[in-house]
Amino acid sequence: MIKKIGILTSGGDAPGMNAAIRAIVRTAINSGIQVLGIRDGYLGLHQERIFELKRDDVADILNRAGTILGTARFPAFKDEAVRKDAMSILRKHEIDGLVVIGGEGSYKGAKLLSFEGFPCVCIPGTIDNDIPGTDYSIGFSTALRNVIDDVDKLRDTASSHKRISLVETMGRNCGDLALYASVACGAEYVIVPERQFSLEELYKNIDDGLKQGKRHAIVLICENVLDIKELAADLETHTGLEIRTTILGHVQRGGSPTAFDRIVASQMGSYAVDLIKRGVGGVCIGIQDNHIVHHEIAESLCQMQHKFDVNLYNLSNLLI
Ligand code: ADP
Repeated sequence: MIKKIGILTSGGDAPGMNAAIRAIVRTAINSGIQVLGIRDGYLGLHQERIFELKRDDVADILNRAGTILGTARFPAFKDEAVRKDAMSILRKHEIDGLVVIGGEGSYKGAKLLSFEGFPCVCIPGTIDNDIPGTDYSIGFSTALRNVIDDVDKLRDTASSHKRISLVETMGRNCGDLALYASVACGAEYVIVPERQFSLEELYKNIDDGLKQGKRHAIVLICENVLDIKELAADLETHTGLEIRTTILGHVQRGGSPTAFDRIVASQMGSYAVDLIKRGVGGVCIGIQDNHIVHHEIAESLCQMQHKFDVNLYNLSNLLI
């Protein structure tokens, strides 16, 4: 009989995390389960910063990005002794199961806790969309909307001045944000870690566009692939045009979550409580082919890979 569950958010914040927290709290309370919030991820767990979350504590958060619980990086959680302390704290508070909302790093912590005897359920929360076992993670849709809004604005000014705009998105080592935005914004070229970058191909796409009379070119670049300033210098020499570089940075994480992020977060939050009620632990939730699913965390981390959408990449190149 499950009486109490804990929730923490960990790693990078993502819009929609609050919607998941709200769904967990309300689903649990509706089933007579008490909910404890843990501040600042595994760090707050280690420091025993734990408090009760009631129905009203999650009012008015559905539409807010970030996480009301706070989040942190706490590398010390890789240490078994630190996790043992965390586990005794969870037991001291009589928590029966823990929901962890975060990215791959947070999954690793939850996997170890589950192996070591404390049942955890993970919910994918990251704008990077790099988590295996799910087509989309919470926050990706909102970050994509943010990228699109900004690139549309850059297009207005690039077109007026006949400039080339190089825009760097987040994504860590996953090109999804840049790729999806490239199709949605009609970018001339997209540079992602999953595909070998060719300077010649980039020159060709831009030259072809200019020959057709285009007054701008937009190039979307996933972070960590190349140096945007060096690329700008190369392009300036090649085209003789003015190049502007924009690194979008953390604005991608803010703003009110999209309908998709709110809905999926609500579904996943509610599903997490159902899993814990059924005594299922050591799993992570995903959305695949429009269904909410779950997998073993270990299987997801070791045997699955987040799929790169080759068709979308080809489409991006086709539609310029
Ligand atoms: P994300 O969850 O967004 O990928 P991080 O990679 O920073 O973000 O991981 C978030 C937190 O998860 C870390 O600060 C740490 O507390 C915990 N964590 C990450 N990797 C491990 C690991 N190998 N073992 C245990 N805990 C980990």
